[in-house]
Amino acid sequence: MSLNEVLQSIPPSASLNLMAKVRDLKEKGEDIIGLAGGEPDFDTPDKIRFRGMQSIAEGNTHYAVGIGVLPLRERIAQKLREENGIECEASQIVVTPGGKYAIYLAVRALINSGEKVMILNPAWVSYAPIVQAAGGIPVHVTLKYEENYIITEELLENAYVEGTKLLILNYPNNPTGKILSESEADAIEAFVKRHSLYIISDEVYERIVYDGKKTISVGSRKEIADRVITVNGFSKSVAMTGWRLGYLCAPKDTMKPVSILHSHTVTGVCTFIQDAAIVALDCTDEIKAMRKIYEERRNAFIGALNRIPGVTAEYPEGAFYAWVKMEMDGMDSFQMAEYLLEKAGVVGVPGASYGSGGENCLRFSFANSMDELMEAVKRIDAAMR
Ligand code: GLU
Repeated sequence: MSLNEVLQSIPPSASLNLMAKVRDLKEKGEDIIGLAGGEPDFDTPDKIRFRGMQSIAEGNTHYAVGIGVLPLRERIAQKLREENGIECEASQIVVTPGGKYAIYLAVRALINSGEKVMILNPAWVSYAPIVQAAGGIPVHVTLKYEENYIITEELLENAYVEGTKLLILNYPNNPTGKILSESEADAIEAFVKRHSLYIISDEVYERIVYDGKKTISVGSRKEIADRVITVNGFSKSVAMTGWRLGYLCAPKDTMKPVSILHSHTVTGVCTFIQDAAIVALDCTDEIKAMRKIYEERRNAFIGALNRIPGVTAEYPEGAFYAWVKMEMDGMDSFQMAEYLLEKAGVVGVPGASYGSGGENCLRFSFANSMDELMEAVKRIDAAMR
């Protein structure tokens, strides 16, 4: 009997594969600098961990049936209203095991099998697989490196195909580090209105934005707010990757399929983790301190990379990735990543893993110590010369 054909045709996650490879090589004693995975090197702030432990001690270890405990959903709704300008109530919030699952839930709830979903490339490695797993058809729209990955209405319009239901956005962007400008948000708003599309806006890097800039949440745009599902999570902003905790905010009339799928697949997110999350939403100072360190690393790492022959790197506006153009002997991004692993012991993600628009690029995470980053630059420099 044949197994699920769609799932068998989907490649595994490139970032997770490379993270596992780095772990295995290090366990074998190899001298490897792993800059592939997007994982904060900070520990979860103390007060979040203590609240989690206290909650376990209080006996909060039973089912938390439903879309999330009310105090957490109320606090998330308040955050979205105050910080993101999204008009919403607790009844529109769904707490999920990780932001990734929130995206799957949202895609699954919005599309029917065979409907099309626009994805702006270069794009995080899991959007297209999630769409396919949900029975949808990804429509890849290439944003161009030479045009600084700018979104225009014309570009969206030219890429539109009949039968499209949904557009996935991810700003601050993984892998390019771009944030959304007002004019890009205007273009998206006009386009989505014209074709009555839904948007999933993955804003998981929202708290990691540099130079005092601020990212835009498209769910704050009144005219399209009833078509936007906003997704966010705690992994990146408060270094809670292993806790698996995310959420979505959905328009009221989309809540039924979202909560039905949630109840049949998740039941409810771990009780004591939800308690700790309430504390995490108040960790403004801790988040600020981590962002300051990321910004120092960004400045030093990007500056140093640009001094290597054949290497060009823009300063990302947000997230913690260096998106680096590397040109040597006509190698493509997979060959380049392999070469750097062999010659320098440095692991980055090949740009081609993010679809079109990432030719000759590699993604290096700077959520690593300054010492590791500077050592990586030294080794890449030697390998490129
Ligand atoms: N989102 C991170 C990354 O892009 C973590 C791994 C993953 O889930 O893709 O590296």
